[in-house]
Amino acid sequence: MSEKNLDYYIRKFTQLRIDRSHGRPAPHKPILLLSIIELIERGVISTNEIELTPEIVSTFLSYWNALYPDQKGIVALPFFHLKSDGFWHIVPNDGYEKSFNLIRHIKSSYQIRDMVRHAYLDKELFALLLLDKNRTMFRRVIINDYFDPEEKNRLVKAINLSRKAMKYEHLLIAEANEPYTANIPQERIRFKEKVREAGFRHLIMSIYNYTCSVCNMRILTLEGASVVDAAHIVPFSVSANDDIRNGIALCKLHHWSFDEGLISIDDSFRVMITPLLNAQRPTEWLLTGLKNKQIMLPQNETLYPAQEALHYHRENKFIK
Ligand SMILES: [Zn+2]
Repeated sequence: MSEKNLDYYIRKFTQLRIDRSHGRPAPHKPILLLSIIELIERGVISTNEIELTPEIVSTFLSYWNALYPDQKGIVALPFFHLKSDGFWHIVPNDGYEKSFNLIRHIKSSYQIRDMVRHAYLDKELFALLLLDKNRTMFRRVIINDYFDPEEKNRLVKAINLSRKAMKYEHLLIAEANEPYTANIPQERIRFKEKVREAGFRHLIMSIYNYTCSVCNMRILTLEGASVVDAAHIVPFSVSANDDIRNGIALCKLHHWSFDEGLISIDDSFRVMITPLLNAQRPTEWLLTGLKNKQIMLPQNETLYPAQEALHYHRENKFIK
């Protein structure tokens, strides 16, 4: 058996077992590998136990949608089928050890969530991917071997957008160590709007673990859709302020209610409900039932919503 070194895996990456029956190589496996490389680079995947997390789904989809906006990308397919390439292994959940080996096709993403605990790479490959220069090489091989020039172009753009968004996130995290201010630091403005949007959204979603701070709802489809949005407390149109402490994760209903001023948050982080709504009206219980509820806050206290931003919302948006 050949030594499992960089050359060995580069060769493996150029020889992925891929369906070519549609006239071109099916892009699922290459896109999944690009996503994993990105998440290792971001530090999101830091151990060799790779679960089908919202992060993987959304990274996969950011590439997929950049390439094929009209087609639905299903990450479960390569997550399952990559096991035929020899360097990707799957650990089934308890009770599924036997049945898992009998499965030839994945019917739905939910099947993966039920049956699979996590996947892992050959330990030699994982160690190689921890180094920046190797990641660059693997990326180049994947992009050159499986995509045509037009697709390459789009992929490179998507990779660059995501790298810039990551830089923007690092900047926002560093700024959160300073006292909160409504002034926008010049450094932030150097980033394009698209980059800022992607960075802010990703950061708030991960800090709040894709969970609505007000009602704790967390619904994610494995196709990447989330019921939760990354909201600005002082609206972006007013403040343009992506400070983490001007952000909060809210489900669609509570995002809308917050923006419309039907709900707000008091200075001890409890839900306020506008007197316009009436607990006597059962149709409004979804909101009125939350009155005085403590919101879910980030684990790290320095990232809590800023009092100044909440105060602005109570004074300017909330219907008293
Ligand atoms: Zn909610």
